[in-house]
Amino acid sequence: MSTPLDYYLTELHTLTSVGSRRKNFYKKLVGNRFIDLLWHLPSNLSFRKLISHIHEAPENALVTFEATVELHQPGLRKRSPYRIWMRDNKNNRFEVLFFNAYDRFLQRVAPEGRKIAVSGQLKCDRTIDVNRYHISHPDFMGPLDEIGKWIGAERVYGLTAGLTRAMVVSVIDQVLKSARDMPEWIPDEQISDGNFPPFLKALKQVHRPHTYENLSFTDPARQRLIFDEFLAYHLGMAISHRRLKPQALSVNQYIPKLAKQLEALLPFTLTNAQISAIAELRSDIQKGQQMVRLLQGDVGSGKTLVAVMAALDVADTGQQTALLVPTEILSRQHATKIGEMLEPLGLKVALLTGREKGKIREGVIETIRSGTATIVVGTHALLEESVEFKNLGLVVIDEQHRFGVEQRLALAKKSSTAHILSMTATPIPRTLVLANHGDMDVSILNEKPQGRKIIQTKVISVDRLLDVVEQVKIIMGKGRQVYWVCPLIEESEKSDFAAAIARHEMLKEIFGEKVELMHGRMKGPEKDAAMQRFISGEATLLVSTTVIEVGVDVPQATVMVIEHAQRFGLAQLHQLRGRVGRNDIQSFCLLLYGQPLSFQARKRLETMRDCHDGFKIAEEDLRLRGGGEIIGTKQSGVPKFRLCDLVQEDPADATLLEGLFAKAHSMANEALKNDPDLSSEQGLALRQLLILSEYDNAQLLKKSG
Ligand code: ADP
Ligand code: MG
Repeated sequence: MSTPLDYYLTELHTLTSVGSRRKNFYKKLVGNRFIDLLWHLPSNLSFRKLISHIHEAPENALVTFEATVELHQPGLRKRSPYRIWMRDNKNNRFEVLFFNAYDRFLQRVAPEGRKIAVSGQLKCDRTIDVNRYHISHPDFMGPLDEIGKWIGAERVYGLTAGLTRAMVVSVIDQVLKSARDMPEWIPDEQISDGNFPPFLKALKQVHRPHTYENLSFTDPARQRLIFDEFLAYHLGMAISHRRLKPQALSVNQYIPKLAKQLEALLPFTLTNAQISAIAELRSDIQKGQQMVRLLQGDVGSGKTLVAVMAALDVADTGQQTALLVPTEILSRQHATKIGEMLEPLGLKVALLTGREKGKIREGVIETIRSGTATIVVGTHALLEESVEFKNLGLVVIDEQHRFGVEQRLALAKKSSTAHILSMTATPIPRTLVLANHGDMDVSILNEKPQGRKIIQTKVISVDRLLDVVEQVKIIMGKGRQVYWVCPLIEESEKSDFAAAIARHEMLKEIFGEKVELMHGRMKGPEKDAAMQRFISGEATLLVSTTVIEVGVDVPQATVMVIEHAQRFGLAQLHQLRGRVGRNDIQSFCLLLYGQPLSFQARKRLETMRDCHDGFKIAEEDLRLRGGGEIIGTKQSGVPKFRLCDLVQEDPADATLLEGLFAKAHSMANEALKNDPDLSSEQGLALRQLLILSEYDNAQLLKKSG
């Protein structure tokens, strides 16, 4: 016998009203399965009014009324409509129009002389002396005794070409009619706490809204379904991030040696935030339990050093660290800087990117395999199977938002017991941390090294380009260095670097050989050489595309010019600005904008000018994007849900959803804690939820499916 679950998983095309003809329309709209359609919630209500005659109808409103069929007038030519003339109860005449209709069907439901019910949008063409009323393609035309079905509130669904509201409504109702309830996966307490109806009842209620209240997030039925989706999401995340067995390493309160040595050698003192973060990481490592931690700190807060300290703690126990970074330039820079730090300690750093090939690559891989390399820095080249570690103890993922979940997991797989430290400068609100990482500990660097000044930020029209060049000239005269960023020109990577090349040409005319160029189309060694000339101070102005966006650290640079700043998202602007202000000299960021400048873009630039706190900027970013703008979505990685959008403009809605989201998170954790294999009665119900919501690809179901 088929179970309720089987029913919800049934493919829509098995219904004759869908069939192979409409299957693809439904697929595009919602998906293949019954449950996909049932999770397609009504988006609005419209009201259909019963009127006694057509002059009572508000303009363009949906109305239902009685009418008498007077005359059929089939279209004369192929494209001309089929007309039916009718009169309302006050003898007012109007016409009903059909394009591509079956004549015989029309003659059957509306024979001449019969009184029938009609429902649809009544329109009026006003000519000089008469008003002509018509309805084209009425929603209903049929027996008088069905008129009651066409009065009152009715739900509106998002549609796609090929499907009408009536089709979708009837398929949803058909599917709901034979559905049975699922076993309950939410514990009684939360059910009564949230006033949640059971699953099937909730589905039925959301598809029968009577008031706008029924459509809002405050509706318990809608809340329940949203909660289900959040719950499935958190369960899936928690299962795929599940901490593995505690590490076989039993270092009881060892005294950190290497980290202390490095600290003594540093030319500066650690910030308090760094000290506490290092202590948090150390305590994780000493516990002999796998660490899964996110290190969040604004640009320039000194995350790299914290990671190096943790790597040294791990090295004390004879283990290696892998540092995964998103770009080639950044991996080279990290390898050099960390190499310099570790040299006095007698430790080796290896570098592996797509560029190391042949013999060199073999050599690097060998130092990793033999354990000679204590820290291995690299791009995604590190993920390749041929890269084996002798004894991987810690995985650090820098600028983690640049990596997909698969990549993060691939690296973690190199050792099932390695600690995992993700680092990000893009501050992520707590909810989103949860959303993206499941249950992860968080350390925060909320402080910058001493003496750092606020970066003075100016918003300037591109018309004043020559003034900007003058200012840059003065600053360069004082021996300071300047970044000059040319952005992506929409849709065309080609013109992206073309803009940088052109600007480089122009600035070279003015400043001569001091100007360097770097863009994504240059070969690796060329990029290195350009970067090297800038780092060494030989070049004092670096024109580049956004290749310098993340991580690049040249402390002597104090000016950041960004052209067409209006095209960037806030997160990206903040990252770019973070390339300067890395010493105690006053730094500047000049945001050049061109037209057209949208309202949103203007807001972004003003936010940048007035705000220097990465967390506030991230919040503002989310708020501004609430209006549907997608710039930067990838950066903050808001997960997509079917039943709601986590980013809401209305603060009340946002708070409500965040509350549900957090509740679902704790329930998911609780459930897994009590029943790790999901084998209890509730656990089995939760498995069904995972299958329904397609979060079942986690290891879990493989294990004991
Ligand atoms: P981010 O957090 O953006 O990755 P980095 O790790 O690149 O920042 O550090 C920014 C700069 O600050 C580097 O040049 C680094 O050497 C320096 N730095 C790190 N910690 C301190 C400190 N406590 N005092 C002074 N400078 C520091
Ligand atoms: Mg960094």
